[in-house]
Formats: sequence, structure tokens, C-alpha cells
Amino acid sequence: MAKYSSLIAPAKYVQGRGVMAEAGELIKPLGEKVLFIRDSVVAKLVGGVLDGSFSRTGLKPVAVDFGGECSEKEIARITDIARAEQADVVMGVGGGKVIDVAKAVGRPLGKAVVIIPTIAATDAPTSSLSVIYTEDGVFEEYQFFDRNPDLVLVDTEVIARAPARFLVAGMGDALATWFEADASSRAHKPAISGGLPTMTALQLARLCYETLIDYGLAAKLAVERQALTPAVDRVIEANTLLSGLGFESGGLAAAHSIHNGLTVLEATHHFYHGEKVAFGTISQLLLEDRSMDEVEEVVDFCISVGLPVTLEELGIGNVSREDLLRVAEAACAPGETIHNMPFEVEPAMVLDAMLAADALGQMMSNGWS
Ligand SMILES: [Zn+2]
Repeated sequence: MAKYSSLIAPAKYVQGRGVMAEAGELIKPLGEKVLFIRDSVVAKLVGGVLDGSFSRTGLKPVAVDFGGECSEKEIARITDIARAEQADVVMGVGGGKVIDVAKAVGRPLGKAVVIIPTIAATDAPTSSLSVIYTEDGVFEEYQFFDRNPDLVLVDTEVIARAPARFLVAGMGDALATWFEADASSRAHKPAISGGLPTMTALQLARLCYETLIDYGLAAKLAVERQALTPAVDRVIEANTLLSGLGFESGGLAAAHSIHNGLTVLEATHHFYHGEKVAFGTISQLLLEDRSMDEVEEVVDFCISVGLPVTLEELGIGNVSREDLLRVAEAACAPGETIHNMPFEVEPAMVLDAMLAADALGQMMSNGWS
């Protein structure tokens, strides 16, 4: 058991309207030659602004088109390019997988890592780990690196223009942060930071939750009109920075394991990470016997922003008890963070919590609360 508390974080986090245009100035202290990993959508969306900023500041970008999956093969391919080009900086621009590739290429080579998320769908940008998939997109492993990114640059205008479902999914991921950190810390389990959570991390996780409850719905409505309001700013920070620091230095628990378990069922694959985590969060609250007031607040929030609260809303309304038991068993596999809960968890308990969450979600969706 860890004997110390610790907190890890990116060296610099910058967020604001139009800050993409400042990328050159912000990256320059880290090096001149920048390996710029992006997909074709991103290249169209922000390539011009970044190129302008780079040429104004004398940076030398080398563009690499992302192959679409954060796999060992793709990491090896881009690592070869980074070596051949002698890049000083590895920069990932786009969604979670591009971000994870940039970390997995840059960190082992000892290069500076710059992350520019174009959606706020997960808390990947600030963390020191990458999620590795097979070439067919099946989860393989987590890779952990010695440091978090050197710079995370979040242009809120770009994120507010992306489809609202991304921001909502990010809220689902961020919704779990406080409850998982709270459960894991009560069990005295170390976080990914290597230590027990500091008071700082726990307060950030709590602020993450409070921000969602206070501003989540207003942010979602604004982004549906591609409007950038102060509420959107707050929720982007909650989804990206507060959730990122909160999970990495606060701790993960049942909600993310239930997410991982749900991926056993093919029908859940076209739902985003955060959408499954939201249902996992409600299940965790029932598993740990939280008060009805707390559970209702979370379910109400999910319904208001459009996060799934029933199995049907996750594409598995007709799931058999046997299949749901497979989900529960996968959630309880050795090494899963569900074992950070303050009590021993067995598959039967997870199965029952998911069934109870589904029943509550159905009832509250029909207007009862
Ligand atoms: Zn997550």
C-alpha cells in the first residue's frame, strides 16, 4: 500500500476562445520541429489556423495523417517518422485516439508532448497514460508514461462547434470522477499517480461534479446552437482538466469497470465511452448504498442532458440475465478498478446494481422522481 499522497498533472494547461491561433507562441519554448499528428477532419477544421501560427513563429511542422486506431502498429509507424524527422515536439490534434497516439510516440522517445483536443468527450488530454487497442478496435491495455503532457491547449470555440453529443459524453465521463475518487480514497487505494489522493485531487473531483450539476444543462443547450457561453467554458474545463486530474490522482473504482464490462456486448460499441460510464456511475451509487437523494440527483442530471440511464438507452434493452452476468464478470476481472471499492465486490452484486439502475432509470425517465 502506498505510504504517501501525490498529484500529477500536465506542465501547462491553456483554455480559451480562439487560443489555437496562439499555438506557435505556446509551443516554441518546447522546440522547433513539431510532428503534427492529425486526422483528415481535423486538418480541414484547424489546419489553416495552426499553419499560420507556426509560420509566424518560425516553427517547422511535419504533418502526419493518423491511421484511425491507437494500435501498436500505428504507434510504431509514427515513432519511425518522429525519429527520421528528428522532431523536438510530438503534437496530437483531435479526439481521444490521436491524443493517445501522440503520448505513446512522444513519451518513450523523450520528446515534448503537446495535446490539442478538438472535442471534450473524454478526460484523455491531461493524463500520463494511453489506451491501446488492437487494429480492429478491441481494448488491449493501458500504457503508462513517466510524465503528463507538457502542454494541453484547448480552444473552446472549436469545441463548442463540435456536435453536442461529444460534450455530453464528456460529462458522462466526468460524472464518475468524484464518486470513483471518493470510493477509492475511502478504501485507501493508490491512484494512477502512484500515491494516495491529496486533498487537492479530491476537491478538484468534487468541483468537477458540482460544475456538471450547476452548468451541465446550460452548456449542452448552448453547444446545440454552437454557442460558446461561460457555462460551456466551465463544462469544458470540468470534462478536460478537473476530470483528468481527478481520475488520475484521485482514483478510479466501479463506474469505469462497469463501462469496461459493458464493452463485452457488441451492441454497446457504438455508444461513446462517457455514455457507458454514466450508466456505470449510477450502478456504482446503488452498489455502494448511497442515499436516494444522491442517486436521484445523478439520474435527474443524466436525463436532463441526455445521458443514458437505462439498458435500452445503451442498445441492450433485451439483454438476457446471462449476458448481463458476463458484463458483471468482466467488470470484476482481476486488475479492474472495481477492486478499489471500500468493500469486496462480486459479479452477482454488480449484476443486481445494474438491474436496479435500469429500473430506476426507466421509472425516472417516465416522469417520476
Ligand atoms: Zn473515462
